[in-house]
Amino acid sequence: MQLAVASTDLERARIALDAHWLSGLDDDQVQAVQEMQQNASSGQPTCPACGSPFSPQVGRCPDCGLNLV
Ligand SMILES: [Zn+2]
Repeated sequence: MQLAVASTDLERARIALDAHWLSGLDDDQVQAVQEMQQNASSGQPTCPACGSPFSPQVGRCPDCGLNLV
């Protein structure tokens, strides 16, 4: 599959494709994919509420403020 998108739209296009792809999976598969993506992101944990990466030293999600400790 080939996509013709501006570089600024590339990230959004990728996210949209991911979302479309994930919608075809069942819950167990989605969870496995999400765990795989977390492991692949160089060990940085992501907020379980909003998915934003956060620093374990801070103990709070910088995006939604969820207390993570
Ligand atoms: Zn959050």
